[in-house]
Amino acid sequence: EKDSDWFGFVANRLLDALDDELYRGSYLKGSATAGGRAVAERQKVVVLGCGWGANAVLSQLKNAEADVTVVSPRSYFLFTPMLAGAALGTLEPRSIIQPIREAHPTAKYFEAEATRVNLEARTVTCASLVCEGIEQCEIREFDVPYDQLVVAVGASTNTFGVKGAKEHCLFLKSLPDAKRFRARLGFTFEQASLPGLTDAQRTELLTFVVIGSGPTGVELCGELRDFIAQDVPRLYKELVPFVRLVLCSSSNKDAALEKLRSSEKGFSVDVRLSAGVKEVSEDEIFLSDGSTIRYGLALWAAGIGTLDFVKQTSSAIGGQAEHAAEARGRLAVDRWLRVIGAPGVFAFGDCAHVVGSPYPATAQVASQAGTYLGRLMADGYDFDVDGAPTLRPGAPGEKTLRHLLSGLGESSKGDAPPFNFLNLGILAYVGKSEALVQIAVGGGDKKKIKSAGRAGFALWRSVYLSKQFGLRNRLLVAADWAKAKLFGRDLSRLS
Ligand code: FAD
Repeated sequence: EKDSDWFGFVANRLLDALDDELYRGSYLKGSATAGGRAVAERQKVVVLGCGWGANAVLSQLKNAEADVTVVSPRSYFLFTPMLAGAALGTLEPRSIIQPIREAHPTAKYFEAEATRVNLEARTVTCASLVCEGIEQCEIREFDVPYDQLVVAVGASTNTFGVKGAKEHCLFLKSLPDAKRFRARLGFTFEQASLPGLTDAQRTELLTFVVIGSGPTGVELCGELRDFIAQDVPRLYKELVPFVRLVLCSSSNKDAALEKLRSSEKGFSVDVRLSAGVKEVSEDEIFLSDGSTIRYGLALWAAGIGTLDFVKQTSSAIGGQAEHAAEARGRLAVDRWLRVIGAPGVFAFGDCAHVVGSPYPATAQVASQAGTYLGRLMADGYDFDVDGAPTLRPGAPGEKTLRHLLSGLGESSKGDAPPFNFLNLGILAYVGKSEALVQIAVGGGDKKKIKSAGRAGFALWRSVYLSKQFGLRNRLLVAADWAKAKLFGRDLSRLS
């Protein structure tokens, strides 16, 4: 009941913690009786992905007596909000990841990509690269059976069909993307340092364009701005007059963009508002207002798209078609995160669309949805019913403090409440040791505390540090921050 405010959020986290202490959940499929004794069948739960959503589900299932299998081509959890820091060398890539085998040792892990869901047989077909020797690699397919399939595969980058964007822009979606950006940035500065270039050529090479003003674009601009103000004068003093940073946004006003615009030591970000990108060529960007920018390095951070696997799965499920317009290729799910038309299949995060209650594609949504679903699964809810899932008689959830306190059993026959996202606010680093903070007090869009400045920066750092996977990551991130502050960033290409 209290889920919609901060008090409720904290109370729920406390209940979760107490529940964990009081009851090590067992997740039962149903019970068969053998000689008067209840024998539990273990559920086969297959989780696709190991990002924000999947990781939250897995944390809830860690004590469950279920056979949990994780399938993901990426073998680690990635703290995406810090990718911009990794792209600029403020953070080392390994500081912001947590290997899945370390994080969830009780789950089985397959490094593979899910390619097809077979609803009738309740199996998911996966493909992996199998190598014998260095040269002889082939794609091998195998099927993984499931009772319940959790799809949390995230999204892809969307270039909206803009000509040349895929070929000429860099992206920031994964760790290899961040490494690529870091290497290209270093390379660009080295190229601009070579003799024989005109001032115009140097300016062109050192014009960095960020396309898109979402969290990725803003944070990358903030980090780039720090690098230009703090490290370029130290490493490439003679190049300082040639460096330009341009941010193209199709929106027309934004507090974060105003912050980026404000100058420091003569350097400011050239923020172009209402400037949609029409085309990108090898050395020029064409904007919707008719202007062009000659550039050296461009990063596309303008939109998210749907993965082919998700599109194919959705189009193969009867019942998805009627929601196709609003789901736009993603998996349409009901308010309990069940994929419509596919019993036993669940989806949430960037790859799903909650019908009638759309949520933004953020880590916050994915992780809250994952916690919610994992909790219901661990409590032993029966999802194969019309309407709200119900608690099975004798299920582990009956013994939890949450259940006892809410009196669910009597008042509503143990019906599960639908997923309800609690917006905890926005944090974005804008450079110059300043962050933009919006906290929605009371949940949703009620009162908002806004702060942009050093206090916001302190909050941003402490929240991001506390949200790291564990002590190891916290120590690594803190050490990286200290290293960057004391000795500057390092863009050397190691290969
Ligand atoms: P992801 O976290 O993307 O995880 C998807 C997983 O699925 C990955 O492990 C992937 O390898 C795996 N996978 C992909 N295809 C398959 C397949 N076929 N089979 C099996 N596994 C597969 N959100 C915020 O709330 N705040 C921020 O500040 C913020 N900053 C961001 C900065 C950047 C640079 C980026 C890229 C994103 C940022 N986001 C932020 C958005 C946030 O990261 C996403 O919304 C979130 O990751 C979505 O979680 P997810 O679990 O749906 O998918």
